Amino acid sequence: NAAIRINKYLALCGVASRRAADRLVESGQVMVNGTVERALGITVRPGIDEVVVGGKILALPEEKKVYILLNKPRNYITTNRDEKNREKVLDLVDVRERVFPVGRLDRKTTGLLLLTNDGELAHRLMHPSSGVDKEYLAELDTPFQAKQLPVLTGGMRLKDTGEKTNPCKAKILQGGLQVVVTLHEGKNHQVRRMFRSLGYEVKKLDRTAYAGLRAGKLRRGEWRYLTSGEVEQLK
Ligand code: URA
Repeated sequence: NAAIRINKYLALCGVASRRAADRLVESGQVMVNGTVERALGITVRPGIDEVVVGGKILALPEEKKVYILLNKPRNYITTNRDEKNREKVLDLVDVRERVFPVGRLDRKTTGLLLLTNDGELAHRLMHPSSGVDKEYLAELDTPFQAKQLPVLTGGMRLKDTGEKTNPCKAKILQGGLQVVVTLHEGKNHQVRRMFRSLGYEVKKLDRTAYAGLRAGKLRRGEWRYLTSGEVEQLK
């Protein structure tokens, strides 16, 4: 919740134009955290500081909920907290609303990522019990041996931490150099670690479906709003 100037805040809350807001402040009609505040330059933190005008506590109007499907390119990071100057998925999605990614994709992973400002839905989709299907196309360094398929899909132990994965679906393509894996969970780097535990390196990883949504015409780096029908399906 970044601090913003009091006149801007009053304007966003629909109290008055910025200019008229300045007059309200100067004439002592605005209280911030219980004190009349007459200085024009002060800032307030929406949702933290209590601003009262005419006996009413102000609040920013609620943002419209938006739902966005992004086809993430390689080398973009999903989090926005990063000291280094790395490319961030949020820089690709130029909307007013403060959206955030639902879950994560590794920097090197490409493919479908949902972004929204609907915290409730995001929380639900990220919860392991939501059962959202996530389909990945993994390109391996050496051909996957069909005899290992039952291990991959049956629920396996990850060698590095000993964590156990849930059963999943998998399909071998291209003589084993590609495998489509459908998970309902999302441990850190899960697909890469599953294959590594079986002796393979994932060269390329692409998320080809998320909760039934597919890229369709969306190219890497492109995004679109979900249709209302698609949003209903997610709920
Ligand atoms: N599994 C991975 O290893 N990486 C991802 O980004 C997603 C799933």
